[in-house]
Amino acid sequence: MNTRKLQDGFLNGSANGATAVNRLLGTLPVNEYKRLLPNLKTVNLVLGEELYEPGEAIKYVYFPNDSIISLISELSKTAWLEVGMVGNEGMAGLPVFMGVSSSSTHALVQGSGTAMRMSSAAVRKEANRLGSLHRLLHRYSHSLLTQVAQSSACNRYHLVNARLARWLLMTSDRLGLEEFPLTQEFLSNMLGVRREGVSKAAGALQAAKLIRYSRGVITLINRPGLEAKSCHCYAIIRAETDAYLN
Ligand SMILES: [Zn+2]
Repeated sequence: MNTRKLQDGFLNGSANGATAVNRLLGTLPVNEYKRLLPNLKTVNLVLGEELYEPGEAIKYVYFPNDSIISLISELSKTAWLEVGMVGNEGMAGLPVFMGVSSSSTHALVQGSGTAMRMSSAAVRKEANRLGSLHRLLHRYSHSLLTQVAQSSACNRYHLVNARLARWLLMTSDRLGLEEFPLTQEFLSNMLGVRREGVSKAAGALQAAKLIRYSRGVITLINRPGLEAKSCHCYAIIRAETDAYLN
């Protein structure tokens, strides 16, 4: 229901060309956003879809509306770890803005939904104008760097329950939803924890009545409680995201 609402909001917004659901695009002055619109195409992203892979030229960047994209580091053929996540606060494909044509990470759709897609050529051209998009992408780069650095330290030192709470809160923020589909296998890959560990951590959060996990759907039922259970990493990342958008 929430997803539908977001999509409707986006479609209505794009019809009059004045607003964007993606918060990065929504922060642009209206005249700059309108100028970008001919280069932005609404696309549906499907769970598990790979948007770009290491060593491959990035053709498009994506500004999620109500979808979420994971940046994944491949440690071996069987071990993948999420090193960053991009939702309605940002853009997947930052290397393009940095003047690099490919990335060392995979960009994988973690939550189905819509995004605004823009060609890499159009991003470079727009960035060269040194306008608001250029300034915002610089600020977003810093925000994403903070997220990646903090998550990396978190994955090494913090307990699984606290990390799971952080991850669920970050995902919820980026989707703009309190309820979303999630498999334990996927979560295990995202957190770099065995399935038994994920199952135990999710069970503990559920027993504390912070989340409900049923039939592959997670519902956040007590956000303040979940924030209290999360390590401080969540607050640090969130403050940085809010600061860059303001
Ligand atoms: Zn942490």
